[in-house]
Amino acid sequence: MSVKGQTPASHSLPLTESNSQITPTNHTDDDWNMEGDTLHEECGVFGIYKTPDAAALTALGLHALQHRGQEAAGIATYDGEHFHLERRFGLVGDNFSNAHTLERLPGTASIGHNRYSTAGGAALRNIQPLFAELEGGGIAVAHNGQFTNAMTLRKSLIKRGAIFQSTSDSEVVSQLIAKSRESNIVDRFIDAIRQMEGGYALIALTRKKLIGARDPIGIRPLVLGDLNGSPVLASETCALDMIGAKFVRDIKNGEVVVCTDEGVESYHPFPDVPARLDIFEYIYFSRPDSVFDGRSVYDVRKALGRELAKELPLDVDVVVPVPDSGVPAALGYAQGVGIPFELGIVRNHYVGRTFIEPTQQIRALGVRLKHSANRSQVEGKRIVLVDDSLVRGTTSSKIVQMMRDAGATEVHMLLASPPITHSDYYGIDTPDRANLLAAQYDLEGMRKYIGADSLGFISLDGVYRACGYAKRNNKSPQFTDHCFTGDYPTALVDIEGAEDHRAGGLLKE
Ligand code: AMP
Repeated sequence: MSVKGQTPASHSLPLTESNSQITPTNHTDDDWNMEGDTLHEECGVFGIYKTPDAAALTALGLHALQHRGQEAAGIATYDGEHFHLERRFGLVGDNFSNAHTLERLPGTASIGHNRYSTAGGAALRNIQPLFAELEGGGIAVAHNGQFTNAMTLRKSLIKRGAIFQSTSDSEVVSQLIAKSRESNIVDRFIDAIRQMEGGYALIALTRKKLIGARDPIGIRPLVLGDLNGSPVLASETCALDMIGAKFVRDIKNGEVVVCTDEGVESYHPFPDVPARLDIFEYIYFSRPDSVFDGRSVYDVRKALGRELAKELPLDVDVVVPVPDSGVPAALGYAQGVGIPFELGIVRNHYVGRTFIEPTQQIRALGVRLKHSANRSQVEGKRIVLVDDSLVRGTTSSKIVQMMRDAGATEVHMLLASPPITHSDYYGIDTPDRANLLAAQYDLEGMRKYIGADSLGFISLDGVYRACGYAKRNNKSPQFTDHCFTGDYPTALVDIEGAEDHRAGGLLKE
């Protein structure tokens, strides 16, 4: 591994990495705090095989996926002889748009990762992709999502003598690949993921292969694209659009795709079960111009607003979206009830998502930095605010007050998702149950907390209707909706009190 300021000493090294901070010195206790590192990851992944400018295309793809993680980004390439890895804290555009960094990433195959983790312990050594030198050559690995048994596997690997360099779940995958007794890399990869539980989209780069995998029930998304004959893997279709790649198809739940010089091959190592994409990808997480399973995220969000209009039509003067995440649903609501849609809140785009701020106090400040009242559209009016979701209630309470201060005579609040009563354990950052407003209060308690004149949520079946179903199929749900129901679709091996969480499900039959 080369060190910052030095040219790689010899090209016989298997890997070059320019950033000296990768050397894990000066650990603090916090640094080793596994909870902080592994339990709260939102991420985006991208990979491309055999194309000129692989690293630059990966940087562009990651840029399109920036909403999935703003804390750090990394790119790994293979140039036919050596692997190269660059990992940085901060936004993709700030780190990977300059020729200097991209020149350090030569090669025609590349994978990249955006990461966002909330709690402490965010160390450079945890930024993905992670690189490992295996018996059969190097491998770079990155994932979006969370393995719900990673901690248990890690402990058992450590007991058996494995040495970990990071606290990232991706390293558990590479350790399992390294330990596998299978003879070729694809079988080793499959052997590794068969041992993992959870929701994930995983990508890996070896000397001759780009490998992608989606968890057995497809909780996290992964799509396949094509750029002039080169296969592309990405968390969302918006990353394909960014580089001008054609959308080929969604990777199936439980599918492993292997891209080589011979083309793209598929493996199906898991039992064939119905897919259950996380409904939160449609509600909040994905970019509105992305498409999953033939459904545009934007269209679903607008349909959520229309369903809300059928379920909870209000007599008000103006529909005001909470930007940006509430905009499509507010538009659908306004069209549904036939009331004017106005931008009563202006969003400052030069601050990140509210959740990035680490403490409640700073988060509260963050909301003010992010949203301002557009007085001319709300003064003297009865308004309804529409947002995609209510989590801690921080955004809503600030905005309701902001609207009153700007002269609104009535402020109602509607949410285009049901109350979030359960935490997510599959890669979407949600606070502990103790900090979820809907887990603590009933509807009236929540209304009082945010200070609105009325408060309403779309029903769960309304969400399914917005996705084109008559209702939730309680025997075989079309999505995973654990945040609203507690119906966790996998075992939560590492999560303390997992049985209580599962028992908390509203719709278990
Ligand atoms: P809160 O202020 O805690 O109630 O959070 C609600 C706001 O956060 C809404 O405007 C959502 O768009 C947004 N949001 C919902 N889920 C998440 C998440 N997992 N990460 C970041 N922001 C979120």
